This record gives sequence, structure tokens and C-alpha cells, in this order.
Amino acid sequence: MNDAEISLAAELKPIADIAATVKISEDALIPYGHYMAKVDTQKIQRSGKRGKLILVTGTSPTPAGEGKSTVSVGLSDALNLVGSKTMVALREPSLGPVFGMKGGATGGGYAQVVPMENINLHFTGDFHAITSAHNLLCNLVDNHINHGNDLGIDPRTVRIKRVLDMNDRNLRNVVIGLGGRASGSPREDGFEITVASETMAVFCLSRDLDDLKERLSRIVVAETYDRQPVTAAQLGPNGAQGGMAILLRDAMRPNLVQSIGGTPALIHGGPFANIAHGANSVIATNTALDLADTVVTEAGFGADLGGEKFVNITGPAGGFAAAAVTVVSTVRSLKYNGGLSVAEVNKPGDDRAGHIQAMERGSENLARHLQNVKSWGAPVVVAINQFPQDTEEELQWVKDFCAQHGVHAEVVSVWANGGEGARALAEHLVEVLNDSDDTVQPMFTPETGIRERITHIVKHVYGGDGVDFSATAERQLQQLEAAGQDKLPVCMAKTQYSFSDDPKALGAPCDFRVTVRELNVRAGAGFVVALTGAMMTMPGLPADPASDNMDVDEHGNIVGLF
Ligand code: ADP
Repeated sequence: MNDAEISLAAELKPIADIAATVKISEDALIPYGHYMAKVDTQKIQRSGKRGKLILVTGTSPTPAGEGKSTVSVGLSDALNLVGSKTMVALREPSLGPVFGMKGGATGGGYAQVVPMENINLHFTGDFHAITSAHNLLCNLVDNHINHGNDLGIDPRTVRIKRVLDMNDRNLRNVVIGLGGRASGSPREDGFEITVASETMAVFCLSRDLDDLKERLSRIVVAETYDRQPVTAAQLGPNGAQGGMAILLRDAMRPNLVQSIGGTPALIHGGPFANIAHGANSVIATNTALDLADTVVTEAGFGADLGGEKFVNITGPAGGFAAAAVTVVSTVRSLKYNGGLSVAEVNKPGDDRAGHIQAMERGSENLARHLQNVKSWGAPVVVAINQFPQDTEEELQWVKDFCAQHGVHAEVVSVWANGGEGARALAEHLVEVLNDSDDTVQPMFTPETGIRERITHIVKHVYGGDGVDFSATAERQLQQLEAAGQDKLPVCMAKTQYSFSDDPKALGAPCDFRVTVRELNVRAGAGFVVALTGAMMTMPGLPADPASDNMDVDEHGNIVGLF
């Protein structure tokens, strides 16, 4: 059975029953049908005790993903099986990957959050709300320019772009306001995907509605003709943040669903980890920490991207830190990083000449990730996510490799077996959490400058020689210094396939420099995005998009959704 068939065959419990397992009362539940609900966090009874947080991250992935969401879901089921009251907090899927190349984000096999069809498509409408709020802000900027432009906004400097939750390269660069006087002022503009927008970042990093409004009001939308920043707060007599916030009010409540194994799951917010900060909302994680003994959460792509950003951006913004880190690795990612093609690494059967040698080469990637993650300060374990084509010899090879690097590793088969497939890992993690109070520590102090932060990340996380700032990035750094914004955290926008900014440099490349092309201040989110290499904030669809195989029959049954 494929993921969708397994999800459909699962016996779901009414969402109120799932809520009751973590003492969320019915009056705090806003049901969306039988199996999904929003949680009114103001009506939750908190014991005052906080759970422990397990961060799931990974090695550099193949284009299909290595199973971090799958392992996060299966591991939380396993933790419940071994007696630790556990919730999982994950991001909401974006329609970009759903219809593009990578697929959904609800886990896979018997380690899924359900109902996957709803979660992967429109869910409870949060992305619609975020898209609308962001586009309202864009609209208010152009409207201000149209009606006299009292602020003196230079239309050539408008920074925020309209957004859409879809991969659509054709909208990257557009001209708006065509059609004469009645239709605005023409200017060059462009679209970004919703998950890369500042409103998405603000949504995920805000602790409550007041924080949300405060952050929205700080968003820098453009510059004036004399090069002063214009913020959302300056648009109209009361600023743009009020209108944006009412569009986001309901969406700010985290969404409760269940895993196939019956674990309560909060799925909320969804910034990508390559071009944004890559973690679910801090409201969802904080809510789960208030309700459960253990919380599993995932940061996107490899530990060099979502992991690093979780340590330096998400945790400090949310006021939490992971007490253990689980690094997901796969036999196929080692082979891919060792130079085998996607077809070869997924090939079933016994014809495996050269595969162990490829794993040896690719294991440099795992080694560098482990070295990084160990330096964060919390205990580290590896989850080797078992795929159907993996042999015993290959799985054992990875386990031995981790042992040689001083890291405990367990093979997990949650995709095939649900929570039972991660029992050993869960038992080990419970012990680790009992024995240690260490948590991951941010790499920087609030006084560390942007140039120093980027240089540190490139040299000590990516393993590069140094950073080249383009002339544009140098000018932007000087502007940030002049504006007193040169000590903000940095959100690196980098390819997920390589430690470097070249997606083809797999494994553990050395002797490279990273080019920072542009620095975009996101004052609302509270970070500066450093665009490296050829990273785009509006992806495109591949030649054979996933939507080619999707359909709905006359009874309303969806087919082809993975
Ligand atoms: P990530 O979160 O790392 O991007 P996902 O958990 O979304 O990865 O998994 C990516 C895809 O791989 C999904 O389609 C999932 O069903 C599939 N997958 C994950 N683990 C396994 C496994 N052990 N065996 C087979 N398929 C798997």
C-alpha cells in the first residue's frame, strides 16, 4: 500500500478523544470535521511542568527526503509505547512540494499523521490566511504610493513581494500596475512562495497575538527616496499590522491531529529550511511542552540548515532548547553523497557492486553533521531509517560507523512497522533524557555581528574556507551597520544538497568559499536572510511534476497523492 492508502485504511479516533489524552478539554477545541481541530491555547489547563524536547534533524538528503518527518512521527509513537507521554510538533505541508517533486510532509508508511489528504492539501486554511495577510501588506504599500505617497516611498525599493503557495517560476519577476492612471503605478515586482515570506516567519516565531502584531509592525516594506526604511507600522494612521493580524487570528491557533499510532500531533506553520528558518510555530512547540512529558519536533533538511537555525533562531525566539538531538540518516543518503545516482540508491535486489565503497565515501557527510551536532551541547543519537531495499550488512555498516564516531545509533523501521519500529531508539532516548539536563546552546551571543555569524557558520558548520560578500551584500552590510541592525541573527538561504553553496558538491566538500549575494533584513522575524549561491525564493516545477499522477474519482476518492 502507498502512503495515501495506509492513511485511508487507518482507524482514526475522534479528535476529542486524542485531545483528552493530553488533557485538552473540549472547550479548548475548535473542531474542523471529525479528526482535526484548532486548539484555543488560552483555554488549556497547564500544570506548570514543562516536557523535554527532542529535535529531529538529518544528514544532507537525496531529492526525495530521508524520512525526518516519518521518523519524528514513528519515534513519538514509540515513546508513547514505552510509557513517556509524548506529542509531536511538525510543520504544515506546502503545496509547492506536494505538486512539485518532493511530495507531502506528513511522514510515510505506518508513521504518518492523518488524515494526510487534508493535511497535505488545504488543511485548516492557515496558509491561505498567511498568504492573504502578506498580500494585504503588499497591497497597502502600492495603495499608499497610489494615493499621494506621503511617506515618499521609492517604488524601486519595495522589498516585500506578493506570495503564493505554489511553485511557479513564471511569477518570479513581473511588472504590476499596468493599465494607466486608474490601475496604479507600474513597477517591477515579483512573487515568492508563501513559505519563504516574512509573514510566515513572523507567524512561526511569535509567542502570542501581541508578539505577532509587534513583529508585523516592524516588517520593513521599502525605503524612502532619501533611503530611510519604511515599516508596516507607518502605513496608514494605525499601521498595517491590525488588518494583517485579524486575518491571522484563527490561524495562530495550532492544529491538532493524530498519528496512525494515536499520538497527538500539533501541525502548525511551515517555513522551508533552505530559504527560511525551517521549523513549526513556537506556539505549537510551547503548547506541546506544556502538555506532554516529551515533545518531538523536526527541523527541515540537514543539520547544517534547519538544525543550525533551530539552535540559533527558533529556540531562542520560542524560549526552549532541545534536550536531545536525533540525526536521521539513511543508507541511500550515504550512497548518494558517495556519488551513486538516485536510481542506483533506490534499486532493489542484490546487484550492489560498489555500494559499500560509495557508503564509505558518502559517510564523510554523516561524520561532518555528527561533529556539528555534538558541538551543540545536548546528547546526540542517530536514527538509521530503514528502507525496503537496505541490506542487513549496509544497515550494520552505518551503525558501526556511528559507534566509531562515538554516537549511539539504532535502525528504525517505523515506515514499515509504526511505533514498534523505533522501540529501541525510544528506550535509549528515555534513558538519555533521564540522565542528562544538557540542552543545545546557541552559537552566538546577542552582540555577535552579522559578518562574524556568517563567517562562523561557513567555516565551522559548513567546513568552508571563508565567505565572499558581493558588492551588493557589502553595501547592505554597511546600511545595516548604519541602522544599528548589524547584530541580528542570520537565516542562511543555501542549497540543502551540499554543505557548500554548490548543490553538486556532495559528501563533505573542503576548500570552498561561500558567496553571499544579498542580505535581506527581516526586522519582523528578527533576522537577516543571507542569500547564497543561486537560491530562489520562488521555486519552479520539475519536468514531471507530482500533479501529473493525481486525480479524483466520481466518488471523491483522491488518487496519486503519494
Ligand atoms: P523528510 O522529512 O526528511 O523530508 P519524509 O519523512 O517526508 O522525509 O519522507 C520522504 C518520503 O520518503 C516520503 O514519501 C516517505 O513516505 C518516504 N519514506 C520515508 N521513510 C521511508 C522508509 N523507511 N521506507 C520507504 N519510504 C520511506
